[in-house]
Amino acid sequence: MMKSAWVESDAKDAVERYARNGVAADLALRVYSTRLLGRDPRLVLHGGGNTSVKTRMADLLGNQTDVLCVKGSGWDMASIEPSGMPAVRLDALRGLRARDAMPDDEMVRVQRASLLDPMAPNPSVETLLHAFVPHSFIDHTHAAAVLGLIDQPDGRARARDLYGARMGLVRYILPGFGLAKESAAVFDADPKVEGLILEKHGIFTFGADAREAYERMIEMVSLAEDRLAQNRKSVFVSSTLPPDIAALSDVAPLLRGACALPDHAREGDFARLVLDFRTSDAVLAFVNGRDLGRYSQAGVITPDHTIRTKNWPLLVPAPTAGRMAEFRDAARQAVAGFVARYTDYFARNNARVGGGRTMLDPAPRVALVPGLGLFGMGRSQKEARIAADLAEAAVATITDAEATGTFESISEAEMFDCEYWPLEQAKLGSAKPLPLAGQIAVVTGAAGAIGAATARAFAKAGAEVALLDRDIEAARATAAAIGGAALALPCDVTDAASVRDAFARIAGHFGGLDILVSNAGAAWQGKIGEVDEAVLRESFELNFFAHQKVAQAAVRIMLPQGTGGCLLFNVSKQAVNPGPDFGPYGLPKAATLFLVRQYALDYGADGIRANAVNADRIRSGLLTDDFIAKRAQARGVSEKDYMSGNLLHREVTADDVAQAFLAQALALKTTADVTTVDGGNIAAALR
Ligand SMILES: [Zn+2]
Repeated sequence: MMKSAWVESDAKDAVERYARNGVAADLALRVYSTRLLGRDPRLVLHGGGNTSVKTRMADLLGNQTDVLCVKGSGWDMASIEPSGMPAVRLDALRGLRARDAMPDDEMVRVQRASLLDPMAPNPSVETLLHAFVPHSFIDHTHAAAVLGLIDQPDGRARARDLYGARMGLVRYILPGFGLAKESAAVFDADPKVEGLILEKHGIFTFGADAREAYERMIEMVSLAEDRLAQNRKSVFVSSTLPPDIAALSDVAPLLRGACALPDHAREGDFARLVLDFRTSDAVLAFVNGRDLGRYSQAGVITPDHTIRTKNWPLLVPAPTAGRMAEFRDAARQAVAGFVARYTDYFARNNARVGGGRTMLDPAPRVALVPGLGLFGMGRSQKEARIAADLAEAAVATITDAEATGTFESISEAEMFDCEYWPLEQAKLGSAKPLPLAGQIAVVTGAAGAIGAATARAFAKAGAEVALLDRDIEAARATAAAIGGAALALPCDVTDAASVRDAFARIAGHFGGLDILVSNAGAAWQGKIGEVDEAVLRESFELNFFAHQKVAQAAVRIMLPQGTGGCLLFNVSKQAVNPGPDFGPYGLPKAATLFLVRQYALDYGADGIRANAVNADRIRSGLLTDDFIAKRAQARGVSEKDYMSGNLLHREVTADDVAQAFLAQALALKTTADVTTVDGGNIAAALR
């Protein structure tokens, strides 16, 4: 149950800390309580809320001015700073209330023109509502319990019954000028209200100080929680499920492939999505329910979810273990139905508003799988995680509504107006997607120089990366340096069980796999006529059979996705240009060069490409600084000359190799290619 997290000594600390930077006490406390709200997912999730304080401060010319400091776009309430609460001239905002209507773009322009600091972020889309109500402190959340109470056909009566005259009730209106006017009118009708309930949207609380507004939010949400806990009926009678549900690592790639829509402008390319899986008792009760087709398709729990989750999730049948082809067909049919429904929804509503909107991609962002759980989906792991968080919140709220009544959302037209509202779309940003956005790459030997450089390069190009290495600590350090969602997993590529486990975990974690960089290797030496056969076999295990093991594991995930893929191998120049006494290393590498061609031949029809990079003389675990110093000394040349002993006289780096792998991954019409990255060595040139 909701409890106040306000700690007076922490509040005082915040005031003192910010005072050192010249921030006034009221703004410091505004930041403090905004963070308290932002840290509780039952109150605020991914931008679903905002706060404000009315105060006085000097403008850039030193004139004291009445301002509204309101949450800025792009700031997370959980970690907000005073600079995330841009100050807007209050008189300018209040003056707008006299107008009858105001287009959104004009509202945004006036708000920006009224900023004290022209470099500040855009004020929240709910700024005018904060400005039109007189209280000093205003808190707004999309609290789950409040939504559970009000997202019902008689939500208004339920709110009135629970809160009496303490809260004003505002009918559903899209955020912006209209909602601000309506909310101010409700407030004026009874200025004693402690806050407002916005139908199908969320809750505002007011206070003379930061603590009062915050404690009122906690109290009002707690009241809703208490109410939802009473007289619950048992919900979600379970449908009949197959006794043997398929494993997550088998289901995810099929689902992911079904949701990847072909890019008709680029043959062989797809708009791929990354998946984030969630399951729990609550999620299972929800997805297993016999009436899932009704309550899951009824719409969003609060309007701004639509830009992250779309208005309804994809429904697929329960997957039976061992009958994956059946599930694949059903999933593809379900996605085709989803796309058709979304396209119709867009056309119908675009016509209603007079046209002119551009349809977003019609792929689902949430999928519900009976027997298993739910998936959030997005063009990156971050987007997928946000969609999954919001989907879990929807499960909780819809469960509460159904346990105490019937869940009801806003209308289709209202959802469209929110989804295609330019001010909502602006929250997503307009950055051009990176070339590997939505793709999942795995790199073996990822803790080594070339592996780490390659993982970095692929992550930078937009892929989600899994880093496999026997040295898990080193792999974790590399993944941490890459940041984002980079995943480190322990893997001995010469061990079949270890490979199987690592690839199953990747499929479960990201939903599938598109690119393999089979990079792990090590050098063994020995004169070929004398070398112990055990040495040769050991080298073959790592430098040939391990490549085969990981390539097989990758193909097993790529085939069910049905969206092709790319197998990349670190082969080395030894495969074509043997060095003296390097037979134990070069022989398996030569076999691996042929392995590349065999995969290109056998899987070309499935859109799976296979390419290799022949690199030479790279500073790495194979060619250590110490070893380089000794070799250079033995040849009587400088280290620099030793490392640059090639046609171009340039040292070749791990980053150069990484760029070659990246180029191969991006070349959709290239397979069975060997790219040489050695600065030029005519004896190693392919002919
Ligand atoms: Zn809101």
